Amino acid sequence: MPSRALGTAPPFPPMMPPDQPSLRDAIARHGLDPRKSLGQHFLLDPTVCARIAALAGDLAGRHVVEIGPGPGGLTRALLATPAAQVVAVELDRRAVALLVELADAHPGRLTVIEGDALKADPATLVPAPRRIIANLPYNVASPLLVGWLRQAAAIEGMTLMFQQEVAERITAAPDTGSYGRLAVLAQWRCRCDLLLRLPPGAFTPPPKVWSAVVGFTPHAEDPGPALFRAMERTTAAAFGQRRKMLRGALKSLGDAEALLAAAGIEGTRRAETLTVAEFDRLARVVCARGA
Ligand code: SAM
Repeated sequence: MPSRALGTAPPFPPMMPPDQPSLRDAIARHGLDPRKSLGQHFLLDPTVCARIAALAGDLAGRHVVEIGPGPGGLTRALLATPAAQVVAVELDRRAVALLVELADAHPGRLTVIEGDALKADPATLVPAPRRIIANLPYNVASPLLVGWLRQAAAIEGMTLMFQQEVAERITAAPDTGSYGRLAVLAQWRCRCDLLLRLPPGAFTPPPKVWSAVVGFTPHAEDPGPALFRAMERTTAAAFGQRRKMLRGALKSLGDAEALLAAAGIEGTRRAETLTVAEFDRLARVVCARGA
């Protein structure tokens, strides 16, 4: 997990942002030239950052985890909200050094953790009510999301920037080309809304593709770890061979015909035609039968 934590609580009261150096100055001073290997496409326009923070809704008293703060444009916008605190997890040591200055300018409201977000657990980083807000590193965005969906019951909401194509896969409806495992897992656990699309030019350096922000509001019901695992296995099998009928695609789970019959689903259907509610029925059968 994180190798060091800098800056500490207490979280209250929220403060007006003090005068700060421009992001471009801070980037130049810390030699934070963007690295492709870290998915570094920075948001330097304070208006865009404020807009993303606003999309998260009322943050009063919320404990915010930001993943990949980079030079801290979005972090500054989050610190300008009434959030109780921001805990920012960043892998790049050059950015951490820059962010420590920001933490010093906001005593008790920003904690910077140098480490890999894939190994960080939001539930242990901050108390409830927790929000995750981030312009995600695109190379690890999907595994990060699936990890958070696994523990969505511990999270009040997430506001996350993805490559637009991934945002569309998350919010896709059945019977569309984008509908797949990510849509089912995300929509099974959360209400998912595509809130904002941003062109490549909004970032420095510009990526090749558009980006989009998705808002996630977890559903009240917590399936628990066994059923979540069953859903992961069911969707992996179903969409692993998405052109096959389900009675063939689900063979790796055991007696596919029996599983489908118990869930009330025709074996001749294909994965992309199943609604999230039908996947829920199927995963419950798979879980109950230990298939
Ligand atoms: N939030 C900043 C912004 O909007 O300008 C930077 C966003 S940039 C798309 C992604 C950030 O995630 C980079 O700062 C990168 O160093 C960081 N990052 C990449 N992989 C990471 C990981 N595994 N854990 C934590 N941070 C990571």
